[in-house]
Amino acid sequence: MMSPNFHLSLAPLLCLLFLSLLLSPPSYSTSLSHFDEDIPLSRPLLSPFPPPPYKNNTSCDRPITSSGTNNGWKEEILQMAKREEAVKWVKEARRSIHENPELAYEEIKTSQLVRDRLDEIGVGYRYPLARTGVVATIGTGRPPIVALRADMDALPIQELVEWKYKSKVEGKMHACGHDAHVAMLLGAARILKTRETLLKGTVKLLFQPAEEAGIGAKRMIEDGALEGVEAIFAAHVSSHEQSSIIGSRPGPLLAGCSFFKAIIQVSNPDSTKAGTILAASTVVISLQNLVSREADPLDSQVVSVGMINATDQHADQHGLLPDEVVLGGTFRAFSKNSFYQLRQRIEEVIVAQSRVYGCEASVDFFEDESFYPPTVNDKLMYEHVKNVAVDLLGPENYNEAPPVMGSEDFTFYSQVLPSAFFYIGVRNESAGSIHQGHSPYFMIDEGVLPVGAAVHAAIAERYLAENKRAGS
Ligand SMILES: [Zn+2]
Ligand SMILES: [Zn+2]
Repeated sequence: MMSPNFHLSLAPLLCLLFLSLLLSPPSYSTSLSHFDEDIPLSRPLLSPFPPPPYKNNTSCDRPITSSGTNNGWKEEILQMAKREEAVKWVKEARRSIHENPELAYEEIKTSQLVRDRLDEIGVGYRYPLARTGVVATIGTGRPPIVALRADMDALPIQELVEWKYKSKVEGKMHACGHDAHVAMLLGAARILKTRETLLKGTVKLLFQPAEEAGIGAKRMIEDGALEGVEAIFAAHVSSHEQSSIIGSRPGPLLAGCSFFKAIIQVSNPDSTKAGTILAASTVVISLQNLVSREADPLDSQVVSVGMINATDQHADQHGLLPDEVVLGGTFRAFSKNSFYQLRQRIEEVIVAQSRVYGCEASVDFFEDESFYPPTVNDKLMYEHVKNVAVDLLGPENYNEAPPVMGSEDFTFYSQVLPSAFFYIGVRNESAGSIHQGHSPYFMIDEGVLPVGAAVHAAIAERYLAENKRAGS
C-alpha cells in the first residue's frame, strides 16, 4: 500500500516507480479505490464471476452482532493466539520472511514457507495460483465460504533499520509490512484449524503475490481463488494507529491510483508550427488545472506529472527541436466516478493540447500492471469487522479511520464480492515503530502479530457462525 502524502515524501520512490513502469513493468506503486456502478470500464477488469449474493446473504438480511451468542469464543481465540508457543511460531515466520524479502511474482521462499507452515499444522491448500500464490482451506469444505487475504511481496528498498532480523537481501525490504500480514494469516490458520469442528462453513486463506506491483489480486481471481467465496476481508498494518488498534470505515477507504505515460511526437516534421517541447509544456500546465479547475474541492483528487524527457534519439544536435517528448505522471481519486473521469480527461488534454502545436500523442495507462480503482468497504462487511474487533478487543481498541490517499489491489476483490479492508496499528514509539510504510526505516511492533492472528480468525469464524446460510 502507498503512503497518503506520496507526492511530498515519496518523490524519489515515484521516480523509481516510473523507471519501473517505463523500463520493465510491472512497477511499484500504491493506491486506493472505490466504485460507482454507472461508470463504464474501458475494458473488463475482472473475470466474469457471478454477482455477490447480497440478496440471499444472511449477513445482509440482518445486522451482524454478537448479541445472543456465546461469547466464550473471544477468550478462547485470544488465549490461543497469545500462548507463548503460538506467539513464537508466528514471530519466527515473520522474521524469516523479513530476512528474505522477495519482489512481486518472485515470492518463492515466502510461498514455500507458507506451505511448510500449513503442512506443519495439517491445513490443505491449492498451489500455485498467480505463479506463487497459495489458497488454504479450513472448515467443512461446504458453503458458506469466507476468505481472508494476505499479500506476500516486498519492495525494492534498502533497509536502514539495524536489528537482528534485518533484510539479508541488498536493495529489498519488507517496508510495507506484508511479512506481518503473512505471519498473522498463518497464525489465524493455526487457530482456525484447532477450532475446525466449530466452523459453520469454510474459510479460504489467500496468500497472494504482487500487491505492490503487477496486480496479484486480479491474477489470483483469474486463477479461481474466489471460487464459491461470498465475502472477503484483509488487513494492513498501519503506523498511524497505536499498536493493536483496529481501524476501518464504511464506503471509500483508499483512493484509486494509476499512472500514465504520454508520447508526444511531431505530426509533420516539415511544419513550422510543430513543437513537442511547447506541446508538452502546455500539457503539464493543463493537467494541473484538471484538479484545480474541474474537480469538486470536496472530492479529493490528485494529478501529478513526475517525469518529462525530451533527450531522445530524435533530438537534433543542439537539443532544440526534439521530435518526441515522453512525459509521465500519476493520478488518484476516491470515487470511481472521479477516477475514470480523470483518466478520460488526462487523455483528452494530452491529445488535444498536442494537436494545437502540430503534434500527435498517445497515452498508456498501464492497465495490466498498475491500474487500481478506489477501494470501497461494503457497509455490512465493515460492520462485521467493527463488531468483531470491538467484541474481541474492546471499544477502546477500535477507531473509525479516515480515508487515505494510498491504494491497494484488494480493490479487485472488493469489485466482485462484499468485502472490508481494515488496519491494524503497529505504532509503538518505545519499539521504534514510528515510520510510515515504504520508508527504509519502517518497522512494526511485533506485539501485534498474535492480536492480528486472533482478529483474522475471529472475523472468519464469526462470519460463518452468524450467517443464515451456515450449515446449508
Ligand atoms: Zn506498500
Ligand atoms: Zn502494503
